[in-house]
Amino acid sequence: MVGGVFRWMLGAVLVASVAPFAFALSPPRPVLEEIRHISVPDYTRVTITLSAQADYKHFRVAADRPHDRPPRIVIDFSSARIDPQLRAPIPVDDGLLRRIRTGQFSPTTARVVLDLEQIESYTAFPLYSPYRLIIDVKGQSEKTPPRQQAKQPRAPPPPQYRIMIDPGHGGRDPGAVGVDGLKEKTVVLAISKRLGKKLESRLPVKVLYTREKDVFVPLPERTAQANATKADLFISIHANASENPHLQGVETYHLNNTNDRATIRLANFENGLQHLRQPPQAGSELSEIVSDMIHNDKLEGSIILAHALQDSIMTQVAKRHSKVRNLGVKKGPFYVLVGAEMPCVLAEVSFLTHRVQGKLLRSSAYREAIAEGLFQGIARFIKEELPRMESL
Ligand SMILES: [Zn+2]
Repeated sequence: MVGGVFRWMLGAVLVASVAPFAFALSPPRPVLEEIRHISVPDYTRVTITLSAQADYKHFRVAADRPHDRPPRIVIDFSSARIDPQLRAPIPVDDGLLRRIRTGQFSPTTARVVLDLEQIESYTAFPLYSPYRLIIDVKGQSEKTPPRQQAKQPRAPPPPQYRIMIDPGHGGRDPGAVGVDGLKEKTVVLAISKRLGKKLESRLPVKVLYTREKDVFVPLPERTAQANATKADLFISIHANASENPHLQGVETYHLNNTNDRATIRLANFENGLQHLRQPPQAGSELSEIVSDMIHNDKLEGSIILAHALQDSIMTQVAKRHSKVRNLGVKKGPFYVLVGAEMPCVLAEVSFLTHRVQGKLLRSSAYREAIAEGLFQGIARFIKEELPRMESL
């Protein structure tokens, strides 16, 4: 958004001073650059990447039997054009979508059409930096029995829950960098692996990771992995940073809008927007997306999960380090939690930028205490809350 406005202003200034070249200097139109999809039974995520933010609208069109045209979802981007390489139809044929087509609907409108096979519902929401429109398409494949039907109200077998652990950052994105050069991506991966081992050895669960190595994984793909694998919980693990070197402690977030400036700063950092001069604030389009998302019934579960994790991390850490502050459960607009279809939280397990905590995060004992805290919180949630939520 900022970039677009800035370019427009630059264009306007140049137009004023070099009028004969006004046409050539008009602001560049957003270009549809890439379309990707991830398919699993009864879930498909389509990601459309643009060179800049564009206004869009989307709607469903019923099948046109006389002309043998399938039902479809249409997305129109105004003032946009399509990269010539994207003109060829993309076959999908996953039971939900037949294929994805593009076309320059009018000189100013670029259109993407999802030809449908059979779907239940879909949602569309944008993400930023780079600007993308995500379309989540849901359905019920014939081969996969509905999960509700598989659940028996009485005498259920012990379910094998799936837990998606999301170690923050990775690869070219180091995350926060600590007092002695320790990188967030390294600490959170180590803690995540400790946590995963504990979960699999002590509970009847399957652990999945959004990354198991030092690789870059875009934020929407992390949530998509959790949705695609039908994870029951999504736990994003991060280490905190502040310009205030005295700030320290543990805090756990669930998704929601906030007016708290420190949280907005942190969310901008975790969302990869820290390099923008004026990142989105509360009241922006981001807060509207978050508002849409939090109406789902997973919010209550996310809040309970956040409290379970926060309490148990503090209990474990305080056994040896009584000075670590309990910063509590908070709400924040974190992209990595947007669109998740299960209880999802983001834990900031300590401050890399604090003189003592930054060093502690390097130690095996402190990492172990945090991993054990995360484990205890998840175990409590699985035992007490998940069965209750499923019976609703
Ligand atoms: Zn982080």
